[in-house]
Amino acid sequence: MSRSAHPAGPRYADVLPEGHYSPPPADLNALDPKVWARTVTRDEDGVVTVGGIAVTELAERFGTPAYVLDEADFRARARAWRTAFGNDADVFYAGKAFLSRAVVRWLDEEGLNLDVCSGTELATALSAGMPAERIAFHGNNKSTAEIHRAVEAGVGRIVLDSFQEIVRVAHIAQSLGKRQKVQIRITVGVEAHTHEFIATAHEDQKFGIPLAGGQAAEAVRRALQLDGIELIGIHSHIGSQIFDMSGFEVAAHRVVRLLREIRDEHGIELPEIDLGGGLGIAYTSDDDPREPHEIAKALTEIVTRECEAARLRAPRISVEPGRAVVGPTAFTLYEVGTIKPLEGLRTYVSVDGGMSDNIRTALYDAEYSVALVSRVSGAAPMLVRVVGKHCESGDIVVKDAFLPADLAPGDLIAVPATGAYCRSMASNYNHALRPPVVAVADGEARVIVRRETEEDLLRLDVG
Ligand SMILES: *Cc1c(COP(=O)(O)O)cnc(C)c1O
Repeated sequence: MSRSAHPAGPRYADVLPEGHYSPPPADLNALDPKVWARTVTRDEDGVVTVGGIAVTELAERFGTPAYVLDEADFRARARAWRTAFGNDADVFYAGKAFLSRAVVRWLDEEGLNLDVCSGTELATALSAGMPAERIAFHGNNKSTAEIHRAVEAGVGRIVLDSFQEIVRVAHIAQSLGKRQKVQIRITVGVEAHTHEFIATAHEDQKFGIPLAGGQAAEAVRRALQLDGIELIGIHSHIGSQIFDMSGFEVAAHRVVRLLREIRDEHGIELPEIDLGGGLGIAYTSDDDPREPHEIAKALTEIVTRECEAARLRAPRISVEPGRAVVGPTAFTLYEVGTIKPLEGLRTYVSVDGGMSDNIRTALYDAEYSVALVSRVSGAAPMLVRVVGKHCESGDIVVKDAFLPADLAPGDLIAVPATGAYCRSMASNYNHALRPPVVAVADGEARVIVRRETEEDLLRLDVG
């Protein structure tokens, strides 16, 4: 394919509304360590490498688009969470962010527990050897078959999400001659996303049982009466991509208040509280996430303080990071197909994937960054929108970013921080074949989830 420069796109200064976008980075070839997996760097030819392997080699061997996952980084992050919380707390990786059998084995080896929210996620975890007692089962509408399977397998806890489910789980456990450990998920009236949290009427959602109006207290009353379940704690999950700890502070305060009410009413101190996940990561250089040890310190202090004030023995804490473990460890590798400069607007760069491998931009207006990874370039920055190949104008991967103006079809570009909620939310829209996940470590690459094939799709279509 010709690498000759296409007509230059608009200069960003001509099209940017004043103060609306960050200016282009000083060096387009630089790779901000905040957003890239830890072993990512450029070799002497300027080609980006991860785990010691060049992306050009990965593209040749595994094709594009592909999710490339830095195994050493995944393990290091998992370990950092584990170490930060120590032996007096439990870290449950939220499997919905990205789950595969290799990931389950890494988590097991690094001492993390696992959250699942469907029977099939549970089956994946069990098939990779995660001990059932280290699995927590979530969801607002677990089927009776799923509950049955989870209880039978002996999962460590089921997180109850409604009044009906309290009875359902108790009944199923009893029919199996078991006593299932459970937590009750409550909504504390706090919803947190990124930089701010809102503490008003956020009981208006499908998850959890509201603290408001005494509903959570009533749920506890009912759970304590049933033989099939053993209530071990209260669960709260307040949002996603959170940087500010004040939402957790309010949530912990309200959960501990409920624990105190439970003690006063029933004379028991529940041994555990789960503060959920939702810790933010850097998608662009503008994001400043906290380190696991800072988060652990902050959460532990909040809970200890609240419990001292309530004269409660401090319960065992658990947390459930998903994105913060896997998100930064992978990038999506794409090949540039067409480049379309739109006079006075921006340049549209089309890649060989799109909303089928990353729905987050279309779904939540998520922000991403992007870099040319198959070579370095000294060309001027060009304002681009990276779009997919699907029949949908909202099929955007990166809304606003800069790439070098000499970008050409056949170049490889990569979008960092796609480890969480990209492969797990991937679709077959336009009969796209979902990309593989290639794990890279110490100069070796291996497919941990293979690319779908036409045959895979046609096998489902039984005529
Ligand atoms: C989604 C979810 C998580 C993980 O959220 P992240 O933003 O990936 O950390 C943890 N706990 C519960 C209950 C969830 O629903």
